[in-house]
Amino acid sequence: MAKDVKEKKFVYFFCGKKAEGTAKMKNLLGGKGANLAEMVNIGLPVPAGFTITTEVCTYFNEHGKKYPQELKRQVNEALKRTETEMGAKFGDKHNPLLVSVRSGARASMPGMMETVLNVGLNDTTREGLIKKTGNARFVYDSQRRLIQMYSDVVMEKAAGIEPAEGKGVRVQLERELHKMKESKGYMVDTELTADDLKKLIEIYKKKVQTVLGKPFPEDPMEQLWGAIGAVFQSWNGKRAIAYRRFEGIPNEWGTAVNVQSMVFGNMGDSSATGVAFTRNPATGENYFYGEWLPNAQGEDVVAGIRTPNPINEVGKNEHTIHLQSLETAMPKVYKALNKIQHNLEDHYKNMLDIEFTIQDGNLYMLQCRVGKRNGPAAVKMALDMYREKLITKEEAVLRVEPSQLDELLHPILDPAAESTTKPVAKGLPAGPGGATGKIVFTSEAAVEAAKKGLQVILVREETNPEDIEGMRAAIAILTARGGMTSHAALVARGWGKCCIVGAGGIKIQADKRTLTIGDTVLKEGDFISLNGSKGYIYSGEMPMIKAAEENPDFQAFMKLCDAVRTMKVRTNADTPDDAAKARAFGAEGIGLFRTEHMFYGKNAEEPLFILRKMIASKTEAERRKALDELFPYVKADIKGTMDAMDGYPVTIRTLDPPLHEFIPHSASGRKLLAESLGISGTEFDRRAEALDETNPMMGHRGVRLGITYPEITEMQVRAIFEATAELLKEGKKPFPEIMIPVTSSENELKHQFALIDKVHQEVCSRLKIKEIKHLVGTMIEIPRACLTADQIARTAQFFSFGTNDLTQMSFGFSRDDIGGFLPDYLEKKILPVDPFQVIDFEGVGELIKIAVQKGRSTRKELKIGICGEHGGEPASVEFCYQQGFNYVSCSPFRVPIARLAAAQAVVKAKALKPVKKVKPKKGKK
Ligand code: ADP
Ligand code: MG
Ligand code: MG
Repeated sequence: MAKDVKEKKFVYFFCGKKAEGTAKMKNLLGGKGANLAEMVNIGLPVPAGFTITTEVCTYFNEHGKKYPQELKRQVNEALKRTETEMGAKFGDKHNPLLVSVRSGARASMPGMMETVLNVGLNDTTREGLIKKTGNARFVYDSQRRLIQMYSDVVMEKAAGIEPAEGKGVRVQLERELHKMKESKGYMVDTELTADDLKKLIEIYKKKVQTVLGKPFPEDPMEQLWGAIGAVFQSWNGKRAIAYRRFEGIPNEWGTAVNVQSMVFGNMGDSSATGVAFTRNPATGENYFYGEWLPNAQGEDVVAGIRTPNPINEVGKNEHTIHLQSLETAMPKVYKALNKIQHNLEDHYKNMLDIEFTIQDGNLYMLQCRVGKRNGPAAVKMALDMYREKLITKEEAVLRVEPSQLDELLHPILDPAAESTTKPVAKGLPAGPGGATGKIVFTSEAAVEAAKKGLQVILVREETNPEDIEGMRAAIAILTARGGMTSHAALVARGWGKCCIVGAGGIKIQADKRTLTIGDTVLKEGDFISLNGSKGYIYSGEMPMIKAAEENPDFQAFMKLCDAVRTMKVRTNADTPDDAAKARAFGAEGIGLFRTEHMFYGKNAEEPLFILRKMIASKTEAERRKALDELFPYVKADIKGTMDAMDGYPVTIRTLDPPLHEFIPHSASGRKLLAESLGISGTEFDRRAEALDETNPMMGHRGVRLGITYPEITEMQVRAIFEATAELLKEGKKPFPEIMIPVTSSENELKHQFALIDKVHQEVCSRLKIKEIKHLVGTMIEIPRACLTADQIARTAQFFSFGTNDLTQMSFGFSRDDIGGFLPDYLEKKILPVDPFQVIDFEGVGELIKIAVQKGRSTRKELKIGICGEHGGEPASVEFCYQQGFNYVSCSPFRVPIARLAAAQAVVKAKALKPVKKVKPKKGKK
């Protein structure tokens, strides 16, 4: 290799004046390293050190734990610079420099990776440090901490030793510490004297030798490289791998290693360590919030060894009122820290989580990163920062995850109560929000209890469609079996109801009406509480906090989203109630109104009976008679819903499901129907049998019904036009969009459109009006319709993608039968995600693209929307925006999420657009 080829840079130096990295270099330097560099560059006090890049981690793990050849030299050089900067020398017996070796991945993985402090201490260097600082206690304390951390992280974990419970070296050493404290009658670690600690170090060393069969390394260089290797290896530790799988962090990213000069918070009472947030991460309130501990080091604050003190007076609460704040203990340092946190927030324009240490009255910054926050806090901060002009509208919209918004839409268990209670069992978080209520084990019991106004939680092995009424009546649902796409999960999500499924730890004895969790037996009527966003189950009653629909922050934030987004958001609603609810959530119309809904559930008996008569009719005359009877119900239903959505379009789908679904199975039900039709029981059974289909979901349904029985379509559209005309007369602004389902060819539509036209004219002339404004369009849910969309658009004035069926037909997966194989497909990564939840962009998405392009090639102004479940799923909403959809439509509870996702789609698309180069003007220099 030629000598002049520039050596690859693996080490980036940072010190009090200037860093080689910046905050933008997270991929290479990891989050911690990049932010340390940034803090240096904006002039904050950061102890000098250097970052070894993530590329070394990848190399190390791919080359049998070997380093690139150049690394050693680069590390030595950076170490020299650090020594010069700090005026001390690593391993020197008179003036030793100590360092920390810290992990730092691109994405923060809290608690998953390792850090070793006080590297470089041994029996020789400690004497030098004692002389230099005149503080023997602190030096011994640091050394015993080093032995504790190093033996655990480097000698045990990184060596692949998996000790039995309670046999790990760290716990064994901690036990020695406890023994020592006990024998002296001490309450806290800080009471240990220099002498105690010195003795403890000897005890520790012996223990390390007996537990691990190796002496603790005294050579500082060996310590340093041991720690570096251990951090790189911790990337492939069990915990880290599991965490990455859970969070979707790629294995290839690797971690960086930061080697940084130690500063000491354990040098006495003028020293301290702490963690803080630039705003309160639980509420979003704009005040500096944090905790600190005097005379402590590293993780003491979070480790719970001592109760940390509040950082300032405003942050005090009933539990911490008696503790001293940093603000009063060290006012000068606090002032400096407060100024720094303001600067940092101004610089990053976000809420930050910071770590600091005070050494003998001097403040040092050790870490900063964008702070984690819950949903309500995220909304409040985004809004406040926008109002403070710290960020733009567009940035504010990106600050809230759609899943965080979800947290605000449901009542929740009081977090304060939850934080002091242990869950008795866990399951899958299938329906968000919280619930507290009495246990019932059957659908009937749930309905009964609800009638009495009781709040009950329906507990079942698993649910099926027969439980629907009980599921409606219950405030929450808990099942022992089933996954995230089980019946209970799907239904609950659609309703925005709290639900936990697959809680394997609970045993239901339905016959005895009891529920066993571990040793606890709960009876019908006992209280339980659920956190459906986390999947936690608690025994007993718990206080609740109301949903935030009325929360002014929530409303204001949604307004921001509306100002940014361009795509409309509608709802799928089948009743005036649902329509009103969705409107309150900001829906701008209905994208799917299913007429058949009136035949299920509440008040459905009469219309259902007439519908059944219609279905069992043999002649057109019989059928027309039944349809006439049905007409007023259909009209009233449509009118009520259009009224609730007044001023907005309502897409009404003509009858879709296969008719035999409505035939009663019971003998008594059949007898009653036969009587009302004036036919014999055998004749009725013959007719019912004739309706049977092998594969009804692909059988006689949707537009096919309207073709064989035109009078059904006629009755429905007559109801639509008359309802509209009546509303118009009342001075309302209804706007119906008639939608034909399951279309596969243009001819089907032509046939239906002729009927609709005929009825339109009929109604207009009868009511003596010129026209009733409306649109006629189709659902696109069959692949053939996508491929022939240019023809279909000659007739259809709008398309609405029914992505549930389109997914089903494209994959050839029956939606009702995927339970048998989909979990394996996801587990084995055959499919990246459930295509019934997120649009399969590659396949189904391609069909959608073709349909949009072909449809608009025929009809430029073709209105395009989506009414499948996907219409409320953020990634799918973004896809719809990219394809130029006019609207998405989803269940009422998902409307705010779709509004946010639609706004984010706009901002993300803008960010991706290449910046146009400005041409220099001619004639001017
Ligand atoms: P994590 O990523 O788990 O937060 P860190 O690398 O931040 O791990 O280390 C944990 C803690 O150790 C820090 O919060 C800090 O208190 C302490 N620490 C790390 N490096 C130093 C250092 N150079 N000087 C003093 N304390 C340090
Ligand atoms: Mg940290
Ligand atoms: Mg369909």
